[in-house]
Amino acid sequence: ASGYSLLRNPQHNKGLAFNEKERDAHYLRGLLPPACVSQELQEKKIMHNLRQYQVPLQRYKAMMDLQERNEKLFYKLLIDHVEELLPIVYTPTVGEACQKYGSIFTHPQGLYISLNEKGRILEVLRNWPERDIQVIVVTDGERILGLGDLGCQGMGIPVGKLALYTALGGVRPSACLPVTIDVGTNNEQLLKDEFYIGLRRRRATGQEYEELLHEFMTAVKQRYGEKVLIQFEDFANHNAFELLAKYRKTHLVFNDDIQGTASVVLAGLFAALKIVGGTLAEHSFLFLGAGEAGTGIAELIALEMSKQTKAPLEETRKKIWMVDSKGLIVSSRKESLQHFKKPWAHDHEPVNNLLAAIKAIKPTVLIGSSGVGKTFTKEVVEAMATFNEKPIILALSNPTSQSECTAEEAYTWSKGRAIFASGSPFDPVEYDGKIFVPGQANNAYIFPGFGLGLVISGATRVHDDMLLAASEALAKQVTQDYLDQGLVYPPFSNIRKISAHIAANVAAKAYELGLATRLPCPKDLVKHAESLMYNPVYCSYR
Ligand code: NAP
Ligand code: MN
Repeated sequence: ASGYSLLRNPQHNKGLAFNEKERDAHYLRGLLPPACVSQELQEKKIMHNLRQYQVPLQRYKAMMDLQERNEKLFYKLLIDHVEELLPIVYTPTVGEACQKYGSIFTHPQGLYISLNEKGRILEVLRNWPERDIQVIVVTDGERILGLGDLGCQGMGIPVGKLALYTALGGVRPSACLPVTIDVGTNNEQLLKDEFYIGLRRRRATGQEYEELLHEFMTAVKQRYGEKVLIQFEDFANHNAFELLAKYRKTHLVFNDDIQGTASVVLAGLFAALKIVGGTLAEHSFLFLGAGEAGTGIAELIALEMSKQTKAPLEETRKKIWMVDSKGLIVSSRKESLQHFKKPWAHDHEPVNNLLAAIKAIKPTVLIGSSGVGKTFTKEVVEAMATFNEKPIILALSNPTSQSECTAEEAYTWSKGRAIFASGSPFDPVEYDGKIFVPGQANNAYIFPGFGLGLVISGATRVHDDMLLAASEALAKQVTQDYLDQGLVYPPFSNIRKISAHIAANVAAKAYELGLATRLPCPKDLVKHAESLMYNPVYCSYR
């Protein structure tokens, strides 16, 4: 290939880092200014430039441009500055990017499959340049983060999630495929927006929807085989539960909003119990919000309790209560409930608000997963603190403005007794002379390592026990030092090591369950995982 095209190939381009010999050997003379620099210096320069931008969206665009220009440098930056860049490449900035995707759109990333491609999805997959795909993240754009239906502009999410698969989990970028399925949008504003990039029609539902998804799922297996992981992302809950239930029997599928959330929250609970004491089954749980996140977490808690106590799931589920927009979920409501809420309808008289439900149930753990902010009021936190020495309070709703309460509120209102973690990040809080560090229940702790574990073992199905294995591995990374500060998640700066441990534990479970196909099982799975992780150092071209 010519030097000119080498510079325009993001997988191989090194920019000014091409040395003299490479410049001679690859026809690069004159195409670059004389200076030869190291990757470290390039990194320093770009970080310097990024920090000049005051508007987060500008940083996002600069990062996306870098990804399209010099892939290795993009990942090097992301890995070395993970805490600073995660909020740019992923939530919250990616959300704003999706909202404005039409107008900031310059070159397409990922694969767009719309109703126009019905009957030809396999052909569309063949248009993608890579043949060896290990992870697909797919969305239909109906529930992007907490922002609702963004239609085709949801593409920012699969692109961002896969960047994390590579940076945090070490899956090769060329093995990652972002997909957006466009079945229309019900977002009136987008339908009217002249810059909208998607199909200008209302969402297909029912059979038309199911058929397109089925064609996609079939085509993926045909093209990439049984071992490709398909992660469903940001589907509305009415489709998410059904797609997962349907395809988990025939494909390697994972829903991060349901299962990833469950696994990361369970890990936080494992760590919290080391502070608070007692086994999972000795605790009782109340959720505000019974959707993908809430019921997903609840189901995994019930499963773990059932493993620990040998009690059937029907029994352990009774330790878990849920409040939705209509109040406490109780048996008398069973007929009218969506099927994913039915397991949580226990015998109790109707209770129509959270505070009354807390007083009636007296939970030891309170989990917010409704997407509605400021719902853990002073009265709510105080009530939790009246009958719990150390109430566990998780305010998971995102973004920060929707958090059920702030870290400061949780610590102040509980007089420093709450064990608190949240979906959005909060700074440490000083209360009564002591520093409390709130944990962030970020899904990015789990899914990259989880996916890597599936990939390195060649797993063909996801089993719930693998989610438990991931939770255990993450909780083990929380040392006593952190627990002493009330912190139930480890710092993000160690994420590659954390991912390797999660991958190893997930892979071990896959081998144990007979779901692994890469045989034999390596002796040291942690080392094995680490050795396979993508590393964005430049190669030398001879
Ligand atoms: P979802 O499937 O739409 O579920 C939302 C649930 O909240 C529904 O059960 C809904 O009740 C209930 N709800 C809505 N308004 C309410 C109110 N005023 N009072 C009581 N309940 C109310 O959404 P999701 O995917 O589960 O996400 C929920 C939230 O969790 C989002 O803010 C998301 O950002 C957050 N989340 C955090 C993490 C994390 O921390 N790692 C991970 C995933 C999600 P009805 O069913 O009655 O409508
Ligand atoms: Mn999501």
